[in-house]
Amino acid sequence: MSLSQHVTAGELDGYLIGRLDPVEARRVETHCRSCESCARQRDLRRAARALTGQTSAGSTASACLSGTTLSRFASGTLEADERALVEGHLHDCQACRDELAVLRCDEQHGQA
Ligand SMILES: [Zn+2]
Ligand SMILES: [Zn+2]
Repeated sequence: MSLSQHVTAGELDGYLIGRLDPVEARRVETHCRSCESCARQRDLRRAARALTGQTSAGSTASACLSGTTLSRFASGTLEADERALVEGHLHDCQACRDELAVLRCDEQHGQA
């Protein structure tokens, strides 16, 4: 797999506080494994958060799926393992299932 674009500071922060959706969080993890500079940024930001007491408060549940992820899922452009993450979340989350249903409905109307 080629190195995709670097993760942004916002993505790193979202990742550290568990606010990224599972697909985005996975991208950050995968990228940091192969990119030393982003991994270093992540560690620095994590250390900074620990110093200021801003560690994520207990909950390790991932955030809900973002609009981007849901629309990529609906249009079938996610990779297989990303789809699996989304399907796992949808299984447990009524809110995201509802959102997906709306998206799919919009798409059908849009492509008529
Ligand atoms: Zn990078
Ligand atoms: Zn959800």
